[in-house]
Amino acid sequence: MIALTENDKKEYKNIWVVAEQLQGEIQLVTHELIGAARPLADARKSQVFVVVTGSKMAEKAETLFAYGADKVIVVDDERLLDFNDEMEAKILGRLIVKYKPEVVICGATTRGRALIPRVAVSTNCGLTADCTELGIDPENGDLLQTRPAFGGNIMATIRCSNHRPQMSTVRPRVMKAPEPDKSRKGEIIIENVISSDTDNIKKVLEVFHNLENTVNLADAQIIVSGGRGMKGPQGFALLKQLADKVGGAVGASRAAVDAGWIAYAHQVGQTGQTVQTKVYIACGISGQIQHLVGMQSSDMIIAIDKNPDTPMMQIADIAVVGDLFEIIPELIKEIPKL
Ligand SMILES: Cc1cc2nc3c(=O)[nH]c(=O)nc-3n(C[C@H](O)[C@H](O)[C@H](O)COP(=O)(O)OP(=O)(O)OC[C@H]3O[C@@H](n4cnc5c(N)ncnc54)[C@H](O)[C@@H]3O)c2cc1C
Repeated sequence: MIALTENDKKEYKNIWVVAEQLQGEIQLVTHELIGAARPLADARKSQVFVVVTGSKMAEKAETLFAYGADKVIVVDDERLLDFNDEMEAKILGRLIVKYKPEVVICGATTRGRALIPRVAVSTNCGLTADCTELGIDPENGDLLQTRPAFGGNIMATIRCSNHRPQMSTVRPRVMKAPEPDKSRKGEIIIENVISSDTDNIKKVLEVFHNLENTVNLADAQIIVSGGRGMKGPQGFALLKQLADKVGGAVGASRAAVDAGWIAYAHQVGQTGQTVQTKVYIACGISGQIQHLVGMQSSDMIIAIDKNPDTPMMQIADIAVVGDLFEIIPELIKEIPKL
């Protein structure tokens, strides 16, 4: 790949967010990404564009200005109702060539992970996955893409100096969604699907939404999470009682998932889900870095562990020292049902 010259790079402008929609509903990660894009665009004295692909999305697209978008490109077509990675990658790649954005950010969701590597290849760009922080180098305007590396033991800041656009994915719930400002206005740009977008691609015949084995930890307000200290599936049954009592969801450490006590869909951490919940109750989880990166931005952390010196107990707002098999049943008895 030939590096772009400084003059070539100047042709690229604006920060793009790839919106995520599911069955016509804009997903929260889109608001989080717009919130992350806004300061980048301000630093580059440019604008935030959001690309929305879907069917009958025009009205929903209008709502994105409130979160900080300046322009929303809408590609509306009934063939885009359900996610088709090949078709969306062709559309996005084509729009990138046409508009030349400087930065493209996308959710590190199942959909984003299927889509954006295809776009990166088709546009000859690099891609930094799973960023936890994005910034602009004040010296040269490069995007600074920070993400955990080497098993989460270091944070690496990666830049893509020679190619444009600079592309990153960001996990859901890593960035905070801004409060909407309904007075903000912007411009909608309509783009159509063209024949080359649909040439030689697979056709989606039917989509099954299999909710079995999926847990929406990302949207839970309270998560009651268990680790190796839960000792087995019975321990997780106890945790479920506590979660039901407080109206929360059950999370888990990788140790508990690897032991087969609970399904992977519940795993929190570097190789599981990232959560940003109001209350995170960690029961028998020591708090190794790979777990902490997935939950440490929760508003309140309550830890229950017999060892007061674990990393989790150190970062907890409330640390309860003792045997969780005595403490949890007491909590279930005493806490009023929410
Ligand atoms: C590349 C990589 C990716 C990883 N990704 C993840 C990830 O996404 N998520 C994740 O969680 N881990 C991940 N890990 C694993 C991580 O390093 C830890 O091994 C794991 O988080 C430990 O789980 P734990 O805290 O449940 O177990 P432990 O570290 O064994 O902690 C168990 C805790 O339970 C307490 N305890 C035991 N019995 C009781 C009792 N009766 N009452 C009260 N407390 C009790 C102990 O004092 C201890 O603090 C990853 C590791 C690697 C190398």
